[in-house]
Amino acid sequence: MATWQCVTSCGACCYLAPNERPDLDQYLSPDQLALYLSLVGANGWCIHYDPHDRRCTIYDQRPDFCRVTATTFEVMFNIDPSELNEFAIDCCQEHIDDIYGEDSPEMQRFNQAVGWTT
Ligand code: SF4
Ligand code: SF4
Repeated sequence: MATWQCVTSCGACCYLAPNERPDLDQYLSPDQLALYLSLVGANGWCIHYDPHDRRCTIYDQRPDFCRVTATTFEVMFNIDPSELNEFAIDCCQEHIDDIYGEDSPEMQRFNQAVGWTT
């Protein structure tokens, strides 16, 4: 079975442009939404994203909605903890597809890391 993990030098989920995520108000509280919007830079990427190293510069202090945990996903998406793995893999694949493409090295690297086979 595939097991979710984040891979280094990806960062696809740090592209926060709200037009790419029209349902934000469906799963973020008003306070979270305000925080989310405050993070969006002029180019659509999070202001805390380092594009050179493709990493979060506030990783230990990143907001709850950036964290893949059973609790955050249950609260935000009503995902049962037993479904977290599959749901998180699907989320990452969507972000990676949007940013780098479905046949990109980033997608291949992610799929290999999580043990995804089609
Ligand atoms: S899209 Fe997934 S693998 Fe890529 S940085 Fe975000 S959590 Fe990590
Ligand atoms: S706070 Fe960090 S993990 Fe969250 S979107 Fe910004 S760069 Fe990415």
